[in-house]
Amino acid sequence: MYAALGLERRLAARGDELVLVSPESFMQYQPFLPEVASGNIEPRHVVVSLRQVLRRTRLLVGEVELLDHPARVARVRTADGALRDLPYDVVVLGPGSRSRVLPVPGLRERGVGFKTVAEAIYLRNRLLSRMDVAASAADPEVRRAALTFVFVGGGYAGVEALAELEDLGRAALRFYPGLGPGDLRFVLVEAGDRILGELSPALAEHVRRLLEARGVEVALGTRLASAEGGVIRLSDGRGFRADTLVWTAGVRPHPLAARSGFPVDDAGRVLVDEFLRVRGLEGAWAAGDAAAVPDLTTGGLCPPTAQHALRQARRLARNVLAALEGRPPTPFRYRNLGQLASLGRYRGVAEVLGLRLRGFPAWWLHRSYHLLMMPTLNRKVRIALDWTVGLLFPRDVVQLGSLHHPREAFERAAEE
Ligand SMILES: Cc1cc2nc3c(=O)[nH]c(=O)nc-3n(C[C@H](O)[C@H](O)[C@H](O)COP(=O)(O)OP(=O)(O)OC[C@H]3O[C@@H](n4cnc5c(N)ncnc54)[C@H](O)[C@@H]3O)c2cc1C
Repeated sequence: MYAALGLERRLAARGDELVLVSPESFMQYQPFLPEVASGNIEPRHVVVSLRQVLRRTRLLVGEVELLDHPARVARVRTADGALRDLPYDVVVLGPGSRSRVLPVPGLRERGVGFKTVAEAIYLRNRLLSRMDVAASAADPEVRRAALTFVFVGGGYAGVEALAELEDLGRAALRFYPGLGPGDLRFVLVEAGDRILGELSPALAEHVRRLLEARGVEVALGTRLASAEGGVIRLSDGRGFRADTLVWTAGVRPHPLAARSGFPVDDAGRVLVDEFLRVRGLEGAWAAGDAAAVPDLTTGGLCPPTAQHALRQARRLARNVLAALEGRPPTPFRYRNLGQLASLGRYRGVAEVLGLRLRGFPAWWLHRSYHLLMMPTLNRKVRIALDWTVGLLFPRDVVQLGSLHHPREAFERAAEE
């Protein structure tokens, strides 16, 4: 969306057509997903309608299945299920990444990822609906399984999602007289010897201790061995029942580039130069999580973060226009200013410009930075209002789990 935003006005003025192919008619701002899961932000407010924002772009809802770049044709599976060939002169690739799902027995059947607004909504409803189940269950086994939440992968997504949900669960307990703080069980499973690899070891260790002080079990150097039949088995030999398994053990680049014969690295990211041009291909550009973008400030590659992706998209748009207008392109250069993580209401950690922050200042900085980055004034205002309302009223513990089975009531009525 950011690349299209940077391109559409000038392309329209030149008489060129810009087509955006996207499986959804909206863009979601992923850094706010943990706050959607905890109910601090309304789900619709972290997504932006592409139709409303991109007024000079033709939106084609569908998925690009293959790019035949020598023929300059994109094969698109459109929303109606049809296959269409879309001719182009210039292609920009930004399909992002997908959850990296490993072949662990039972994972595919039992696990859920944490990359989409739908998954964030699901997890909020899941937590509260499991608390409802536990509050009404007579069997202690059923109760324990309902209240056990396992997160596999201790990176940003896993830690933030767990921390926000644990925060919500604890706040909701006061409305569940039969349940106590010791009944909720959150387990974070991490294969490495530390969580939050992007943060300095000292700050990551601080987060681990903070989570443990909140009752979270952090299992380092441990893997998920299986999840068959709802029984979680860990590589350290432990086994227990858990109704909820969240898989946040990393992402892999979208396979479109590799599938289309574009040059990719070992991880499957499309190779681009510092101008964001696909190496060795005329008229092809790429940015974001799906691209291996040289980081000129470190000599390595840019990490897969929103901070980088949206700045790459803006630079890419300017470079595409420069190429079309016969001007020289400018290299992408962005110095990461720091890392921010939110760990529930009023709690967070940050490392910004060499400064380490904890607690309220870090939480406030996280919110302010991402609010600034959130596209459109409309969404910024709505999110700020969500937060303000959240300060004035107690946490909302309504669960709308039936959203995930909207036809159930109708089908039951039809059977009677
Ligand atoms: C829970 C979570 C929290 C995060 N928190 C932070 C944070 O605090 N700070 C930070 O900097 N980063 C954060 N990130 C990472 C950040 O969100 C990503 O790095 C960023 O979204 C990558 O942008 P992108 O445009 O490459 O991919 P995406 O944002 O994933 O966008 C790719 C788009 O391409 C579409 N697409 C996919 N396949 C096709 C196809 N075949 N045809 C057409 N369209 C397709 C997708 O539907 C999607 O709309 C977080 C990520 C998650 C999941």
